[in-house]
Amino acid sequence: MAKIISGKIVSQRVRDDVKRETESIKAKNGIVPGLAVVIVGDDPASRVYVNNKKKACAEVGFKSEEYALSAETTQEELIALVKKLNASPEINGILVQLPLPKHINEKAVIEAISPEKDVDAFHVSNVGRIMIGDYHFLPCTPAGVMELIHSENIEICGKNCVVIGRSNIVGKPMAMLLLHENGTVTITHSRTKNLSEITRNADILVAAVGKPKFVTGDMVKNGAVVIDVGMDRDENGKLCGDVDFDSVEPKASYITPVPGGVGPMTIAMLMKNTLMAAKIQNGLI
Ligand code: NAP
Repeated sequence: MAKIISGKIVSQRVRDDVKRETESIKAKNGIVPGLAVVIVGDDPASRVYVNNKKKACAEVGFKSEEYALSAETTQEELIALVKKLNASPEINGILVQLPLPKHINEKAVIEAISPEKDVDAFHVSNVGRIMIGDYHFLPCTPAGVMELIHSENIEICGKNCVVIGRSNIVGKPMAMLLLHENGTVTITHSRTKNLSEITRNADILVAAVGKPKFVTGDMVKNGAVVIDVGMDRDENGKLCGDVDFDSVEPKASYITPVPGGVGPMTIAMLMKNTLMAAKIQNGLI
């Protein structure tokens, strides 16, 4: 039977640490970290994410500003807002909630965010820093996965690590972080041949596929550490992950549940990045 790694517990620990440090820099240096969250249009899922981010800011003692723009906002208007926030001394982190409406080029908007305030770590300059292992911010979801692995003191060095998925926001940076910790990393994707053969060789398996219950027990080696990044809906519309928990859990040594695994880590790491941004911008690092 696998040990469940609880994202609820680990993320609360991260948020408590951020809160403590925020209180300290407020008292000593008069600094209150500020996060601006920009949402364009009325996608209900994005709305939920933005509300959760605002709540998390309040909990750790940050200032948060929300910019809710109509779906008709032009790319130029959005970039003008980003530039205004880049120049605002009260704002240390800027997050533009994705996806954006189709008429807006996401890449152009992300590139407009000042890399120092890019707390999602999606800007090419931050992505490049991650490649060479010289970074301030890590993308929140892969960073959250690393925090979960570290919370159990799971050895990465020399282990076979398999990542399913190669997206820019999860799969690729995930692989890079495991590589930085000396894992032997394989990235798989939709064109990978004999996927099960590769996953069965994984000591650490990270699933970021976006397909409900995709990873089944027969794809997992006995004793593997299985991290489920997926946030999917099953046939009954219920939230589930990329991992078929019921068939995988009996074989794994550690496993993250959905919900309550990687999900809560993402916002906690966003808080950590925003605090880091505030410290850097105020010369505390
Ligand atoms: P994505 O951009 O759609 O990428 C999915 C990846 O899975 C792609 O690289 C794709 O390969 C690969 N894939 C698809 N079918 C496959 C197959 N049959 N075999 C092997 N690989 C396959 O998704 P994403 O943004 O990375 O997100 C992945 C999952 O994580 C989603 O469920 C998402 O909701 C969840 N997520 C959760 C959080 C969180 O906070 N917990 C944050 C972000 C994402 P190709 O590149 O070849 O198409």
